[in-house]
Amino acid sequence: MYSHDVLIIGAGLAGMRAALSAAENGADVAVISKVHPVRSHSNAAQGGINAALEHAGDDWHDHAYDTVKGSDYLGDQDAIEIMCREAGSEVIQMEHYGVTFSRDEEGRLGTRAFGGQGKARTFFVADFTGQALLHVLYEQIMRAGVRVYEEWFVLDLIIEDGQCAGAVVMEIRSGEIHTIRSKAVIMAAGGLGRVFEPSTNALICTGDGMGLAYRAGASLMDMEMVQYHPTTLKGSGVLITEGARGEGAYLLNSEGERFMKRYAPNMMELASRDVVSRAEQTEINEGRGVDGCVFLDMRHLGERVIRERLTQILDIARDFANVNLLEEPVPIRPGMHYQMGGIKTDIDGQTQLPGLYAAGEVACVSVHGGNRLGANSLLDTLVFGRRSGVHAAEAARSKSHGSVDDSAADGQKANIQRLLDNEQNGGDMFGQIRQDMGGTMNEHLAVYRNQDGMETALDTVRQLRERYRSVYVPDKGKTWNTNLVFTLELGFMLDCAEAVTLAAIERKESRGAHTREDFPERDDENWLKHILVEQTEDGPALSEMPVVITQWEPQVRSY
Ligand SMILES: Cc1cc2nc3c(=O)[nH]c(=O)nc-3n(C[C@H](O)[C@H](O)[C@H](O)COP(=O)(O)OP(=O)(O)OC[C@H]3O[C@@H](n4cnc5c(N)ncnc54)[C@H](O)[C@@H]3O)c2cc1C
Repeated sequence: MYSHDVLIIGAGLAGMRAALSAAENGADVAVISKVHPVRSHSNAAQGGINAALEHAGDDWHDHAYDTVKGSDYLGDQDAIEIMCREAGSEVIQMEHYGVTFSRDEEGRLGTRAFGGQGKARTFFVADFTGQALLHVLYEQIMRAGVRVYEEWFVLDLIIEDGQCAGAVVMEIRSGEIHTIRSKAVIMAAGGLGRVFEPSTNALICTGDGMGLAYRAGASLMDMEMVQYHPTTLKGSGVLITEGARGEGAYLLNSEGERFMKRYAPNMMELASRDVVSRAEQTEINEGRGVDGCVFLDMRHLGERVIRERLTQILDIARDFANVNLLEEPVPIRPGMHYQMGGIKTDIDGQTQLPGLYAAGEVACVSVHGGNRLGANSLLDTLVFGRRSGVHAAEAARSKSHGSVDDSAADGQKANIQRLLDNEQNGGDMFGQIRQDMGGTMNEHLAVYRNQDGMETALDTVRQLRERYRSVYVPDKGKTWNTNLVFTLELGFMLDCAEAVTLAAIERKESRGAHTREDFPERDDENWLKHILVEQTEDGPALSEMPVVITQWEPQVRSY
């Protein structure tokens, strides 16, 4: 058995930021990740991170207002205020740690415009901001002496006397199952993107953290709020960063028209993501698309801007769509990108389960509400990762370890054996179930939703859960049994799919990313509230919580 003060599940930006702050606050910290830390999905973040820097003439109140409006007033304003107030110092801290942010003409930190914001306040490192941050944080946690269990897979949380007291984990290389006890656990296991197919997310974004916490008794909140990003490539669903529109790219329909003028005359292509995705989908549905897509046109930006600031997407468009952005528009469409919901936390990352914290995309402190602003997610990971780390380290100081021993792993050992014992007997392998789930979710829980479609999705997900009981794992070995790992991930994905669908059926209005054809209006009187999903002995149970409003009363939202 291994033992640490603070155990962090996930080595993306949220996990590593939490690890660094917990270590700096004197805790013995370990991070566990199913992939090498710098292969975490945060690596994919392209466009940048938001902060209102005062000396750049910006004001965190404006950033907070844009975020509240972007959330369609579902975001909790106390948390949004904290995130926006702490953004500037966090970005500067990252610079001091060693992140080489791109500069403006005068050599100061440069910014670019991102959607739904009144000011250009997105700091960036070309179009690989996530990678730059991730590598620097990895260096910093190495310097701070954080123990990293890399390529270890978390199977279960250990709950003792109602407290989270560690985790049961599998070393993927050897297949050995271990117990790690800790005084606090911070869940930073990222999003659930691959519950939908296609998605802009890495294949490892399988909602494990939400599933682990949900099974352990924590509530999931705002799960119906799934962001479809306006610019994902036809076919593969690979992301073209919002930074492209931030640099001035146009959206065109099949008639060559900049159609956003009819949907968001002031902000045009830089309206918030839910608005732009709905506009695109409407154009496509009304016959002004081509092959289910509209176009992103960057030709007028010129070669220098594209090569210097959008270098990665120049390659992506060439490699995945055979399009030269310098010479032609690229076909794009709305695609699944981000989960606004997650494990419900307070502003210090504490969940409703004592001893368990959560931060990053896995969590829902509700700074994104119904719709996340581009470049606010990296900020969320860093601000609330740091806050969770500080709080968990302090809590661990006055706590002793529970009486956890190796027997805590017995249940998971039996569970894995049961999976491996499943006979083929017509049972599916993980891939077929995963594909059916992803296709169903993308068909019925995308940009436009309705009751019939969502009920069809719920039926399908429940049938898939039945099929999952007899899922067949052909590889019976212990060493690098990725077939087993993918099968375990699928179990978490099905939990998430059910929670998303249930919450979406429950919300009988349109707000943010949740647009219902059968309830097209926002309904503040009845639905200005969060929906929570909790696992009970009788299955998933739904409940509600009020939205925290500090200074911005809901208004009609237009861009
Ligand atoms: C293509 C793309 C571009 C983006 N660009 C931007 C951007 O420019 N700006 C912005 O603000 N946001 C952006 N986002 C969103 C942002 O990148 C993510 O929301 C954020 O990086 C999530 O970070 P995280 O630390 O929460 O999780 P992740 O980086 O996903 O890390 C999760 C960690 O958990 C570990 N893990 C998961 N399950 C287990 C398990 N069972 N056992 C052990 N370890 C586990 C993983 O190994 C990983 O280390 C982008 C997203 C995409 C898809």
